Amino acid sequence: MASTNAKRRWWADRRCDTTGLASISFLSRGEPDTVAKVLVQPEVVEIWEAVETVLRNTEYGEADVVGSIRHCPFGIGGKRCEPSGKNCSLHNYCLALDIDPWGAGNPHFKRPWPMWSWSKVKFTKAQVRAVEAIRMLDKSKPLRWLGWAIGDTMHWEIDIPPASAMSGVDWSTVEGFAPPPETLHMAYADTLNLNDWVSTLRPEDIDQLFALRVHSPASGAAHWKGLLAAHPNAADADAWENFRRTTSARIGFWQPEGESGPASQPSSYQITGDITPT
Ligand SMILES: [Zn+2]
Repeated sequence: MASTNAKRRWWADRRCDTTGLASISFLSRGEPDTVAKVLVQPEVVEIWEAVETVLRNTEYGEADVVGSIRHCPFGIGGKRCEPSGKNCSLHNYCLALDIDPWGAGNPHFKRPWPMWSWSKVKFTKAQVRAVEAIRMLDKSKPLRWLGWAIGDTMHWEIDIPPASAMSGVDWSTVEGFAPPPETLHMAYADTLNLNDWVSTLRPEDIDQLFALRVHSPASGAAHWKGLLAAHPNAADADAWENFRRTTSARIGFWQPEGESGPASQPSSYQITGDITPT
């Protein structure tokens, strides 16, 4: 768990900066509701997608209200959010969501656990634990819940620096994430750096692809790993090049031309395995 000051330092250049924010849909709030947008830093969009996946899977239901931004100069408790970060809420950085605040079910009790009751909170303990179980691919824990510390049970905040956020969500830690067969979650594809196979593909990546049931009908995981073992990081090896070109071609086909939409759009993807080992 990071200190609030550490987070203010990590994300200092985003303080009070509302340019470049991503507008997301979260438990049916935000888009296409143009009145109350849910605005977050673009690096953490995938993390909130993971939170939404967990909450849907654990039957949280739709949200009535989701608060994200706090407009400067107003910081914590209406105090001035200073350039040093003093008195600044993580909402001033668009790194926190208030999920169903106040009357909607997740009040701010202003006193730490256990001085309040789960019966007065829309979140269940199991839901909180499931969100807390989410990890990034660099093993960091991306979220902190303030219900434990100060009874702010509506408040979830990003607890990691930009570089960790950019490592991508480890979707195997996201309860309820189940891509349909033969379908690769685009966000997952990004985390695997599918467009940069030569420098990044590892045997465990192949395991992940097979776990997602992105597979070749013609060959199994052992076949792909065999190529890796024969040509570790050998970008100029014929078999490796062949493998890379084949997968890249499929990826090119799989990513619709000119599409740069949100990473949450699932797209069909398949490694056909029509390579020619040399
Ligand atoms: Zn909050």
